[in-house]
Amino acid sequence: MNYYSLNKKAPNTTFKNAVVKGLAPDKGLYFPKSIMPLSKDFFDNIEQLTNAEIAYETIKQFVLPEIPEVELKNIVEDTLSFEFPIVELNKNISTLELFHGPTMAFKDVGARFMARCLGYFNQDITNEVTVLVATSGDTGGAVANGFLGVKGVNVVILYPSGKVSDIQEKQLTTLGQNITALEVDGVFDDCQDMVKRAFLDEELTNTMQLTSANSINVARWLPQMFYFMFAYKQLKSKYKNIVFSVPSGNFGNICAGMMAQKLGLPIKHFIASNNENNVVTEYLKTECYNPKPSVQTISNAMDVGNPSNFVRIQEIHKNNFKALQDNLSSFSFSDTETKEAMLEIHNDFNYVADPHGAVGYLGAKAYLKGNSNAHCVFLETAHPTKFLDVVENVINKKIELPDQIKSVIHKEKESIKIDTYKGLKKYLLG
Ligand SMILES: *Cc1c(COP(=O)(O)O)cnc(C)c1O
Repeated sequence: MNYYSLNKKAPNTTFKNAVVKGLAPDKGLYFPKSIMPLSKDFFDNIEQLTNAEIAYETIKQFVLPEIPEVELKNIVEDTLSFEFPIVELNKNISTLELFHGPTMAFKDVGARFMARCLGYFNQDITNEVTVLVATSGDTGGAVANGFLGVKGVNVVILYPSGKVSDIQEKQLTTLGQNITALEVDGVFDDCQDMVKRAFLDEELTNTMQLTSANSINVARWLPQMFYFMFAYKQLKSKYKNIVFSVPSGNFGNICAGMMAQKLGLPIKHFIASNNENNVVTEYLKTECYNPKPSVQTISNAMDVGNPSNFVRIQEIHKNNFKALQDNLSSFSFSDTETKEAMLEIHNDFNYVADPHGAVGYLGAKAYLKGNSNAHCVFLETAHPTKFLDVVENVINKKIELPDQIKSVIHKEKESIKIDTYKGLKKYLLG
């Protein structure tokens, strides 16, 4: 499969190159040259397929033949070694639980898939690849875990000091081996800016092979299509008019849903559910795209002021504002509303949602006001214990820690503090 740069000033490239480089030389995001819908048969019989079979059919056109069929099947199988259950709250609202992976974050799937692809491409190369990733919370743990022990790959994670939860911090600072955590005196946008700057810094790129593991990387972004397929498989016999409400930060997840829709998955509409970082909500109202510095919220994995995948969403809709408006609604909610929603979900449905899922729930409810015949699936993107303080405080109840979390909580944190780009560079040139 060929990929082109959305800045249109770089040559087309292979899947391998897109994965290894992350960004195109013109700083554009890569996008697949063609998207071929899957057969009607596939969707008609999807409930007879295993998750790994569905995933393979979904991703193969974007990866073959650079990773051969057998290897790709293994990668997919290995990536998806946990459940993706739907929990129905009522006849209009379900949640798709994406937190059953090793770090209990939906990013586990993308990170595991990408790590295995990079591992495959790297098996006969002696050059090391350095994966550089900025995290506002969940990415770090998922990437660190996904890449742990992968040969020829070093992972460097930048996270904003004091702005991720204790559990998240433990998950990204306690692994050791090929994983290093850099603790940045700043906010997430500072981390992301440093990473972007490193990719433009020839002194670095001439001496080392840098790549990203944020959702700008096609191998992190595309496997997220699987979620939407898995939800459809579980709901198709019961509901028509399936709508997804996606708690969005960098908009990689929702954009992958739109790719699944391009493949023919019958999704009626998307809802981008946002906290107070609302540039897309505003854009859909005003047609003005106005990136802003991020503000801190209790759903901190969505504290993004300038969502990197929005250009891909524009591309999918051929840069047509009307087409985008028809397919996407967006709502923005305050922390107070988010907490009220967590309480409501707990009281009305006896279900514990994390703050991101609760924002997704609010988006679903807002959409249902004008579309009562829809069935809205909000994605539950993190396990509630990853935001333990907020969750326990709001529902006024202790929650039991799952095993994945118990295993890191007593480990010793190891991080290197940096405060400017210079610090990052010094570390990398080590
Ligand atoms: C990363 C993340 C999001 C946002 O996903 P995007 O693909 O960046 O829009 C939402 N919820 C949680 C828990 C996350 O970690």
